[in-house]
Amino acid sequence: MKRYGMLIDGQWVPARSGETREIRDPADGALLAKVPEAGRVDAEAAVDAARAAFDAGPWRKLTAQDRGKLLFRVGEGIRAHAKRLAELETRNCGKPLAEAAFDVADAADCFEFYGGLATKIHGETMQVPANSLSYVVREPVGVCGQIIPWNYPLLMAAWKLSPALAAGNTAVLKPSELTPLTALELGRIICEAGIPAGVVNIVTGPGAGPGEALAASPQVDKVAFTGGTVTGRKVMTAASGNLKKISLELGGKNPNIVFADADLECAVDGALFGAFANQGEVCSAGSRLLVERSIHARLVEGMLKKIPRIKLGHGLEPGVKMGPLVSAAHRDKVESYIEIGVNEGAKLLCGGKRPKGRAFAKGHFLEPAIFDRVKPSMRIAREEIFGPVLAVIPFDSEDEAVSIANDTEYGLAAAVWTKDVTRAVRVISRLRAGITWVNTYHPTFNELPWGGYKASGMGRELGLYGIEEYLETKQVNINLDENPIGWY
Ligand code: NDP
Repeated sequence: MKRYGMLIDGQWVPARSGETREIRDPADGALLAKVPEAGRVDAEAAVDAARAAFDAGPWRKLTAQDRGKLLFRVGEGIRAHAKRLAELETRNCGKPLAEAAFDVADAADCFEFYGGLATKIHGETMQVPANSLSYVVREPVGVCGQIIPWNYPLLMAAWKLSPALAAGNTAVLKPSELTPLTALELGRIICEAGIPAGVVNIVTGPGAGPGEALAASPQVDKVAFTGGTVTGRKVMTAASGNLKKISLELGGKNPNIVFADADLECAVDGALFGAFANQGEVCSAGSRLLVERSIHARLVEGMLKKIPRIKLGHGLEPGVKMGPLVSAAHRDKVESYIEIGVNEGAKLLCGGKRPKGRAFAKGHFLEPAIFDRVKPSMRIAREEIFGPVLAVIPFDSEDEAVSIANDTEYGLAAAVWTKDVTRAVRVISRLRAGITWVNTYHPTFNELPWGGYKASGMGRELGLYGIEEYLETKQVNINLDENPIGWY
């Protein structure tokens, strides 16, 4: 069992209250670590440190080249500790090791992507109707409060910190109270890379208290949040106090649409992977499978044949494809949706039960569930469950598929499976979602913008769009006329 401090102003410190929180492995309940249980006052101290580092520290004097090099060093540091980080991620949030290893490599790539981008931030010169040299410069926004969830703890920290730092901001990161460990390890790597004290601060604790303090603080210039839509609304309200800039990456109830002409084997694979990767605890999970009626029976049969291959267990065990859910409370929530689905009249084809056996006794495991004959009006088709529960909805026409797909408050991701390229392009253009795929599900690239339409959020992370969220725009007008204005 390891004891961690949290990172404030370059120091590893306890909570002012002295309180700590036990961090446990969701697969077997083992005690992994104790971390400080921050309160508002700790978050405020971290904000003060970030404010001072932005306003008066050496950070703002570094060139973009220097910042870029530091970010590359963070990427190298992540790679140097990749094995340990992946194992820690698996232990802390439950995901299978192969998925954690992928996340760790992706996090390193993300720091390197934004390390490269640091030197490409540029303004422009405009011709104006005056004797003036007029130009536009891009500047960092300032102090960023960054609040992240428990499903991709290290990767979300990378998505938040790397563009903020590339643009020259300072940050206070608050990981989920359940999964702070890899973010704290990342903090160590950031310090070792030579990023000055106070530039990155990491506060461990609950949303109520430190999270709210970050969202509300008048010293914070921008808040970036990933999590549930209900919390997103609260963050937005809190952020309105000083009208801080805001970006929100929220939930989804994403349609995965399979047309009759799709390659059935690929579609079966994509349907299962879309719904059940990372235990289905993914904002972009393909949790609604819309299937053209003529292939509905064959697609369902294909999935049922393959589902026994999703081996449950501790994510560190070889061959495991699905770990536990993140917490007992979260499993209870997901289980309640199984009951809701059955009561609504959907047909539970498989799963939805706690697996039996000693290996599962102390973990929050749940067998992947597939509901068939789901009506678009049912709660299991409308509400984000955020677990391994797939709702299969048959359709008869392209128009009907699009209509069902768009009939949701969300608009994060969507996919289409068809061999007809014209149809693929046509349907994608009709889907109201920010992330779309054709004949695949889930690939995510640091180069491309990530974010949703409608209640799935605002703003975009990743790619060139991601750094825009961390930049202010300033116009500069240099008068070249040496005569007085002569207005009066
Ligand atoms: P939350 O939205 O509650 O948590 C996300 C982050 O926000 C966590 O760091 C949390 O802190 C923090 N937080 C919570 N309340 C506040 C607040 N009032 N002000 C500021 N920060 C706050 O997600 P949960 O973990 O509770 O999950 C709830 C649901 O949200 C899930 O079932 C799922 O539907 C959805 N979700 C969506 C995600 C996505 O990527 N779109 C990711 C995670 C969840 P802490 O956890 O430490 O209390």
